[in-house]
Amino acid sequence: MTRILRSPISIPLHWQILAALILGGLYGFLLPHEAHYVTWAGDLFLRALRMIVAPLILCSIISGVAGLKNNLTGDSGANQSGQSGGATLGRLGLKTLSYYAITSLLAITVGLILVNLVRPGDGMEPPAVQEASIEVKPLNQTLLEIIPRNVFQALMQDDMLSIIFFAFLAGAVMLRMEKEKGEVLINFFQSAFDLMMRMTDWIVRFAPLGILGIVAGVVSEKYLEGNLLESVKSLGAYMAVVLIALFIHAFVTLFAILRFYGGFNPLKHLKAMSSALLMAFSTSSSSATLPLTMECCEKQAGISNRTTSFVLPLGATVNMDGTALYECVATLFIAQAWGIELTVTQQLIVVFTALLASVGAAGIPMAGLVTITIILSAVGLPAEAVGLIITVDRILDMFRTAVNVWSDSCGAAVIAQSEGEGIYKSDPI
Ligand code: ASP
Repeated sequence: MTRILRSPISIPLHWQILAALILGGLYGFLLPHEAHYVTWAGDLFLRALRMIVAPLILCSIISGVAGLKNNLTGDSGANQSGQSGGATLGRLGLKTLSYYAITSLLAITVGLILVNLVRPGDGMEPPAVQEASIEVKPLNQTLLEIIPRNVFQALMQDDMLSIIFFAFLAGAVMLRMEKEKGEVLINFFQSAFDLMMRMTDWIVRFAPLGILGIVAGVVSEKYLEGNLLESVKSLGAYMAVVLIALFIHAFVTLFAILRFYGGFNPLKHLKAMSSALLMAFSTSSSSATLPLTMECCEKQAGISNRTTSFVLPLGATVNMDGTALYECVATLFIAQAWGIELTVTQQLIVVFTALLASVGAAGIPMAGLVTITIILSAVGLPAEAVGLIITVDRILDMFRTAVNVWSDSCGAAVIAQSEGEGIYKSDPI
C-alpha cells in the first residue's frame, strides 16, 4: 500500500466525498432554486476531469503496453516464463476480455432471474407510448468507427474506443522498434503518463467541492421537475429489482471472484476503491471517474500500471456490468408492462444484446438508456417504450455506474493477482 490520496484537509478523501454527497443532496433539496450558487463548482470539476481523460488514456495505454518491453528483464510472471512482449500483450488481452464478458454475463443472469421471479411489470397500466427522442448508431457503424479516420479528431471528440485502439497499436509497435528509437518514445510516454497522474492527483483534491455542486444540481433538477416521487412510487418494484440485482452482483458475485480468484479479502479492495466508487455514484460517469479509478487502483491497491492501463480505460468504455444488468431488467419490465410474454429464445436474445448494448454505451450519464433501444428492437418492442422508465433513470444510473466502476477495478485486481503482482500481500485474509 503506497501513498494515501492527499487533499488540503487531512480527512481521508472518501469521507470528504461522502460528506459532500450528503451536503449536496441536502442543499439541492432544501434550496432547489439556489442550486446555481454551487453547480458551477461541479461544472468546473467535470471539465477538469474531461480535460485529463483523453491524454490520460493515451499515455497510460501506450506506456503500459510499450512498458512490457522493459518488464522483460524484470521480475513479472511473464518474464520468468520467458515470453516476449507480444505474447504478454496477447495473454493480458485475453484475460481482460474474458473477465469483461464473464462478469457482464453473470450480472445479466442475476437481473434476468430476479425480474422473472418478481415480475415488477405485471399489473402496470400499459402506458401510452411517450415521446422519447432517442437515436442510436447501428452496431456495424460503431465497430467501424473504432478505427479513427483522424486520431487528433478522436482525441478532440473524446472518442474513447478510437483513442484506445490507436494507443494499443502505437504501444504494440513501439515494442518492436529498434532499441534507440523505441526507448526515446517509451520514455517519453512514461514521463507523460506520470505527468497525467500528477495532474489527476491535483484535480481530485477538488472532488468534494465538485461533487457537492454536481449532486446539488441533480437533486434540485429532479425536485423542480416535481414528478419524481410519483414515478418512484409507481416504478418502485422495478427500481427495487434493479437495485437488489446490482447489490447481489457487486457484493456476492464480484466478492466471490475477488476472494476465490484474487485470494484476498474483498473488503480491503472495496476500501481501497471507495473514493472512486463514491465519485462514480455522484457523477454517473465511468469516463469522468476513470482518472480516480486509476489513481485508487495504483496508489491504494498497489496494482501496476501495466495492468491498470490494460484493464481500466477499456473497461470504462466496454465493461459495464451494472448497465448490462439494468438493460436486461428494464427490457423485461417493459415487456411485462405491455403484457408481452417473451419466450426463452427471446430472453436469450435479450441477454446477448444486453451484453452488446452495454459495450456500446459510453461512460457518460444515462448512456444506457440510449443503447437499451438496441435490445428493445431486437425483441420487437418500440424504442419509445423507454419513456416508461425515463423518469427514474438518473437515480438508477448512479448505482449502475458505481457497479460498472467496481467491476473494472475488480478486474484489474484479479488480473494483477494472476500476473503474480501480489497485491494486498502485506495484509492476507
Ligand atoms: N452512466 C453509465 C456509466 O458511465 C452508463 C449508463 O448509462 O449505464 O458507466
